[in-house]
Amino acid sequence: LNRRLDGMGTTIFAEMSALAVRTGSINLGQGFPDTDGPEEIREAAVRALREGKGNQYPPGPGIPELRAAISDHQQRFYDLAFDPDSEVLVTAGATEAIAATMLALLEPDDEVIAFEPFYDSYAACIAMAGAKRVPLTLRAPSFRPDLDELRAKITPRTRLLLLNTPHNPTGMVLTADEQSAIAALAVEHDLLVVTDEVYEHLVFEGTHRPIATLPGMRERTVTIGSAGKTFSFTGWKVGWVTANSSLVSAVRTAKQYLTYVSAGPFQYAIAEALRLPDSYFDGFRADLRRKRDLLGDGLRAAGFEVYQPQGTYFITTDITPFGEKDAYAFCRSLPERCGVVAIPNSVFYDDPDAGRSQVRFTFCKKDDVLQEAADRLQRLA
Ligand code: PMP
Ligand code: GLN
Repeated sequence: LNRRLDGMGTTIFAEMSALAVRTGSINLGQGFPDTDGPEEIREAAVRALREGKGNQYPPGPGIPELRAAISDHQQRFYDLAFDPDSEVLVTAGATEAIAATMLALLEPDDEVIAFEPFYDSYAACIAMAGAKRVPLTLRAPSFRPDLDELRAKITPRTRLLLLNTPHNPTGMVLTADEQSAIAALAVEHDLLVVTDEVYEHLVFEGTHRPIATLPGMRERTVTIGSAGKTFSFTGWKVGWVTANSSLVSAVRTAKQYLTYVSAGPFQYAIAEALRLPDSYFDGFRADLRRKRDLLGDGLRAAGFEVYQPQGTYFITTDITPFGEKDAYAFCRSLPERCGVVAIPNSVFYDDPDAGRSQVRFTFCKKDDVLQEAADRLQRLA
C-alpha cells in the first residue's frame, strides 16, 4: 500500500459490519436500511433487465432518462436548472462522485478544507489526489462550524471547500446564514465548493437548501446526490453530480477511467424513483424522524449523552456518562457486552481528542430492531 493510503487499510464500516456478523449482533453501525425501497422501483429494475435495457454498456454520462430525471428533481425541489446533457453526470454511487471530483479538480499539494468528523472516503480521496486535507472541527454539543475558524484556514493553496449537509455522522444541518457566510468566503477567495448532499431528503428540522442556489455559487459548486440514501437501495450504487458544464466535463473525464460507466438497469429504475410523488419523500422523512425519536429515547434511557441530529439517519452520542472515554474500545466491546454494533466517531477526526468519546448509531432499521437494540443497551448501566 502506498504512503498516500497509509493507515486506511479497511474502512470502519466494513470492520464493524464484519464484527456484527461474527457476533450475531444488531448492526446499528454501517448506514444501510434493513427494508428495501419501494416495490414498484424494484419492479422497474426487473423490467429493465428483462427488456434488455442497460444490460450492455450504457452511455458514459448515464442514460438520458436518468439524467433528465435528475435535472427535473433539482428543478422540482430547489428551483435549480441543469441541462441534462452537459450539467448532469451519473456515477457509481456518491462514493465515485466524490472520488472522481477530487481526482478531476485537485492538483498535488492543493488544500481542501473539510468538516471533521468527515465521512471516511473524503480523507482517502483527497489523499489519492495527492492533495492535503485541512479539517474544520465541528465540536459537540452543537457541531456548528466556526466560520471565523474557516476564514482563518483559507490560504493561497486552498482550492476547494468540501461540505456535507446534512452531515454524517453528527446530523448537523447547515443554516441559511451559515451557507451564506460560506458562499461569501468561496466567492471572495475564488474557491470551488463540493457539497455532499446525499441526505438531502432527510432533514427533520427546517428544510434542505443546496448551496448551489446562492448567488455566485452555481458556477463554482459541484453537488453530489445518491439514490442509495433517498430510495433505500444502497446496493444499487447509483449516484450523481450536478454542476456547470465545465466542472461536469472535468469530473466525467475522471469517471471514465474509474468505472467507465455505471450499471445499466438500475439507472432506468432510479429514473422512475426520482419522479415519485411528494408523498413518497414526505413519508420517508416522517418515518425516519419517528425512528430517530425512538432510538434517541432508547439511547438516553440507556445513559448515553445524545446529540439530537437535525438530519441524516445517524445519532451521535457520548459515552462519558458510562465512565468511558475511548469510543473505539467501547465499540469493539459492545457486541460482547450487549449484542449491539455501533461506529466510533473518533476515526473520523484528525484531532485525536475531538471525537474520542463519540459513538454513532444508525436508526434506518425496523422499529422492533431499534427497540430490541435499545433494550439491550440498557444492560450497560
Ligand atoms: N457521502 C456520505 C456523507 C455518506 O454517508 C455516504 C454513504 N454512506 C456516501 C457519501 C456514499 O454514498 P453511496 O452509497 O451512494 O456511494
Ligand atoms: N455511508 C454509510 C455510513 O456512513 C456507509 C457506506 C460505506 O460503508 N461506505 O455508514
